[in-house]
Amino acid sequence: MDYRNEEPISEKIAIAKRLHAALGDELKMDPQVSVRLEELSVRVKDSSELCLSSGLGEACRICEQDEGGSCCGEGIENRYSPELLLINLLLGVTLPESRKCSRSCYFLGEVGCTLQVREILCINYLCGKLQKTFPPEILRRLQEVNGAEMDLIFGLHDRVKTFVRQKDM
Ligand code: SF4
Ligand code: SF4
Repeated sequence: MDYRNEEPISEKIAIAKRLHAALGDELKMDPQVSVRLEELSVRVKDSSELCLSSGLGEACRICEQDEGGSCCGEGIENRYSPELLLINLLLGVTLPESRKCSRSCYFLGEVGCTLQVREILCINYLCGKLQKTFPPEILRRLQEVNGAEMDLIFGLHDRVKTFVRQKDM
């Protein structure tokens, strides 16, 4: 896939949708993709449950809605590749048609991130305030769960890129 990182997000979404229409079924039948997709949907569920039960989700909601805006800033969407968006489509995510708020990331929705499979930066980032106020055992658990999720995404992203390249698309 030949694309430049600064290509507009609308174009990357269009590419991801084209790839999904052309290769989605084949990708889901590829053993190296299907096994990882299945495992990833479990990991994503684990990490969103931990996000809720640890209070992280609520802290970030307050930050976004009551304290002037979260760290999901405009421009972070440019880090996303068409293949990572394609993986979201394979998991049934509906990609937004437009940006909700002009100063925020394109993928920020009414109730948080609209993606299931996110960039490493998005998974890994925890602001200084939360690092100081969250109990160490929760921070450790977040690190473990996020680490497992990131390893899986790394392998899957790589496989999907190779698959697409082999199809000359
Ligand atoms: S990580 Fe920190 S800055 Fe980012 S949304 Fe959550 S509370 Fe706000
Ligand atoms: S977590 Fe989602 S909404 Fe926030 S910056 Fe990352 S992609 Fe954008």
